[in-house]
Amino acid sequence: MLGWMNTFLDRIGSPELDWIQVEVTSRCNAACVYCPQPLIGHKRHMPLGLFKTLLPFLRYTDLVYLQGWGEPLLNPDLFSMIRACKAKGKRVGFTTNGMLLDEETSSKVIDLGTDIISISLAGATPATHDRIRKGTDLVKIIQNLDRMQQIRAKKKARHPEIHFSYLMLASNLHELQDVAGLAKHLGVGQVVCSHLTWIQNRGLWPEALFNREADRVTGILEATAAEAQKEHLVFAFNSPALRNEAGHCSENVCRSSVVSAAGDVVPCVFALPTLSRDDGQPLSHIFHDSLEPCRPLSFGNIAQESLTRIWEKEAYHRFRDLHDPTAAAPDMNSLPPGCRSCYKREA
Ligand code: SF4
Repeated sequence: MLGWMNTFLDRIGSPELDWIQVEVTSRCNAACVYCPQPLIGHKRHMPLGLFKTLLPFLRYTDLVYLQGWGEPLLNPDLFSMIRACKAKGKRVGFTTNGMLLDEETSSKVIDLGTDIISISLAGATPATHDRIRKGTDLVKIIQNLDRMQQIRAKKKARHPEIHFSYLMLASNLHELQDVAGLAKHLGVGQVVCSHLTWIQNRGLWPEALFNREADRVTGILEATAAEAQKEHLVFAFNSPALRNEAGHCSENVCRSSVVSAAGDVVPCVFALPTLSRDDGQPLSHIFHDSLEPCRPLSFGNIAQESLTRIWEKEAYHRFRDLHDPTAAAPDMNSLPPGCRSCYKREA
């Protein structure tokens, strides 16, 4: 009786989400200079059993994105997770550093019907990319992608769509335009650009674009957009310029959820409890002139409660009301501390 009632309550509270993002691992085989990976304590893969507790709730969304602060292909259960999502009729994607896309892995990714693979880049030359994305090798990534496209062609498979995810930094911006040519050469359909907003130490501050060299940045973005159009590529970016006043969060936190490798349900990757050290102390990041602790914001854990119950909690409702993009911008003091020191409200 209780089981039936829980299922019924889960149904009537069903959220509609644009996507559910799942941190399938917090381990990584790279050590990018801007990433907190080396500092993260208690790294783990999400167990398949925990992932499966999410399956009944996938009906709330069409897209499951298997991504957090780690490299998804390291989780030995990744393919079972993709298979389970596809069996529910969902679109599935993940972002990878591309280093583990060997022949067998690429074949599996294609055979499972994975819809999107996004390859992280931070340069269009090995010198730049490999310096920033330490532990990765652009030449090998290109070879892996090339082989994956050949396998896909041989199998006459339409999927996965391959995207590039380019992190714009002050020291690699000059190579952005060349990424369009690289994408065209490798049959990549989309280039999505982001910029550094989570800055883990003062040494990285010069890499954040924000309002620096605004004319040069705009010129490069416009030239890349023109190049992409010529090559029939989708090119998506947010201007790195900060607004004068903080406003709404630019993440889609009212229509998506992120689940940590340990099962915590949070609104965005910056609120993941993953961002803490071995001793449980939070990592820090630079916000304007101060060093701020990362403040996790979990509304519940899928090991103990259903996603619907968590989504319907008063605290999560209050959070979404504060971040409702159709309402007035929230008062700073009413926000959770992590949101007060987050560039996503200014970018
Ligand atoms: S403003 Fe808050 S919800 Fe939005 S990205 Fe930042 S920490 Fe996440």
